[in-house]
Amino acid sequence: MNASPFLSRRSFLAGSAAAGAIVMLHPFSARAQANQAHLRIMETTDIHVAVLPYDYYADKPNDTMGLARTASIIDGFRKEATNTMLIDNGDYLQGNPMGDWIAYERGMKDGDMHPVIAAMNTLGYDCGTVGNHEFNYGLSFLDKVNAGASYPIVCANLVKGTQLAANPRDDKLYFKPYVIVDKTVADGAGAEHKVRVGFIGFVPPQIMIWDSKNLVGNVVTRDIVETAAAWVPQMKEEGADIVVALSHSGIDAKKSDLMENASLFLAGVEGIDAVFTGHQHLVFPGGFAGLEGVDNDKGTLMGKPAVQGGFWGSHMGLIDLLIQRDGNSWKVVDATSEARPIYTRDADRKVVPSVQNLAAVENAVKADHESTLAYIRAPVGNTSAPLYSYFALVADDPSVQIVSQAQIWYIKDLIKDTQWKDLPVLSAAAPFKAGGRGGPEYYTDVPAGAVAIKNVADLYLYPNTVRAVVITGAQVKEWLEMSAGIFNKVEAGKADQPLINLDFPSYNFDVIDGVTYKIDLSQPAKYTSKGEVADAGANRIADLMYDGKPIDPAAKFVVATNNYRAGGGGNFPDIKSDKIIVEAPDTNRDVIVRFIVDQGTINPSADANWNFVPMAGTTVLFETGQKAEQFMADVKGVKIERAGDGEGGFARYRITL
Ligand code: MN
Ligand code: MG
Repeated sequence: MNASPFLSRRSFLAGSAAAGAIVMLHPFSARAQANQAHLRIMETTDIHVAVLPYDYYADKPNDTMGLARTASIIDGFRKEATNTMLIDNGDYLQGNPMGDWIAYERGMKDGDMHPVIAAMNTLGYDCGTVGNHEFNYGLSFLDKVNAGASYPIVCANLVKGTQLAANPRDDKLYFKPYVIVDKTVADGAGAEHKVRVGFIGFVPPQIMIWDSKNLVGNVVTRDIVETAAAWVPQMKEEGADIVVALSHSGIDAKKSDLMENASLFLAGVEGIDAVFTGHQHLVFPGGFAGLEGVDNDKGTLMGKPAVQGGFWGSHMGLIDLLIQRDGNSWKVVDATSEARPIYTRDADRKVVPSVQNLAAVENAVKADHESTLAYIRAPVGNTSAPLYSYFALVADDPSVQIVSQAQIWYIKDLIKDTQWKDLPVLSAAAPFKAGGRGGPEYYTDVPAGAVAIKNVADLYLYPNTVRAVVITGAQVKEWLEMSAGIFNKVEAGKADQPLINLDFPSYNFDVIDGVTYKIDLSQPAKYTSKGEVADAGANRIADLMYDGKPIDPAAKFVVATNNYRAGGGGNFPDIKSDKIIVEAPDTNRDVIVRFIVDQGTINPSADANWNFVPMAGTTVLFETGQKAEQFMADVKGVKIERAGDGEGGFARYRITL
């Protein structure tokens, strides 16, 4: 997104050129009068230890991320504005293997420096807040990390102890609720003034659920909007000219108590002048069309300037304020906001970096980067069986099985103290690497033995986060009917019919574990690949059983899945966000790593919980990678043989139904 709300960037005036580069001066700096000043505040958010543009899961460079890149656009941004400040909006210390390496291997002793803080300290932050992930490794770990920060860290709604005070202002807070920084600004005539800029921070109250084991008994959280309404007046009493909210919380127009994504209603609190948002890993302005109170073009929430700067350093969030002297104080008279990316995409959607690494940031983490590379390449556990996806579309498969094992393990623990604790937990997972347009090498293939963190990217390609939904037995069947649309209809008694409908993406072929079923290929597909009803009377899913008995259509089930599916991705019948009971903060990938670490040795052998309904005298063909051959004998529940070669380097196989 590159939307600039009040004035397009094309209309910026060309300012002084430094070192040959044309600096586009922001119009506020150009037009500020003697009693006015342009104050630009820049946001990084949801960095998640992505200091370098390197994907440690895949063990290769990645130009869509990295504070080293975001940092190198700061210099240019500082030249565009007379006065600038820099803030961080939380979720800095967890989220990639560098963070895990520090937490699980190197540790944080008193006085140790965390690499993300070492990197951030080179950039001159004015203030930061904490995100929900700051609590993942416990409070004492967080305290030691924060001790290294050269800037204040604020959060107004995290309260020590087990009870909130009657009045929020009497809460014993874990952090300072806010700071007021005396910022020297130059006005339009070049004269310097002191402007008192107040920064107040907020964290989603849901950390008490997501990190209950680290937090319950030690701290409690308060509603974000309620907290702001109590503290902002005190900031004004203490002389804050401008009040800026560092809200590690997203944008949602549906109001509720203890809102997770409360930034819209936070912006409505009197006295707040600007809101930095985050947590959702989205971009604002640009990514939030059609919400009441949200101006997605101008970049305002309830009329106040706001921004959300993506994640992993993908964007720098900018709020530009034109402030004006008002008696002894200053007030905002105009504002713009913008989220500027560190990369663009060319005509083929290929990522083109806009900037290179800032050397100071790169140098700050050089040694830790090398240690992290050693960490991701070393085993974290063992697998007793090979993990491969060559047959994932035709039989139950270890690469899908392991994802479901990890998801069930994680969700069972998360719901153990909730109203859903007695419901059966199923899991839906799909093969991501299953040939197709990816080519004949595009399969998961991890041999039995040691598993390294870098192997996990091969198992779970996307940085999805875990979700759980509650649905009925009838809806479980419809979910599977939708999945079964990946197969062509097969005629009984005919040989060598093509099995796979190539228009149906493999990532929408969800296998549901925890139930057993058969797929009847003689029936037409009930749903199209887009999720429309194709044949309402069709029933491909047969013998659907839970616990060895036919599934009760009215019974309730928890299904572990990901944010894509639970949010309506793939248009599965009835599966959308109203069914979600758990919005876990962790990525499916992290959950798989933790599962492997926890188990020591995993056994991903498929349990053959699904197969095809037998059809006498009928065979079908499908194509997979050449390396499938070595695993053919392991495939359970299906009679399979080699049938020559397919096109484009694929191997062809025959299944006797
Ligand atoms: Mn985050
Ligand atoms: Mg299975």
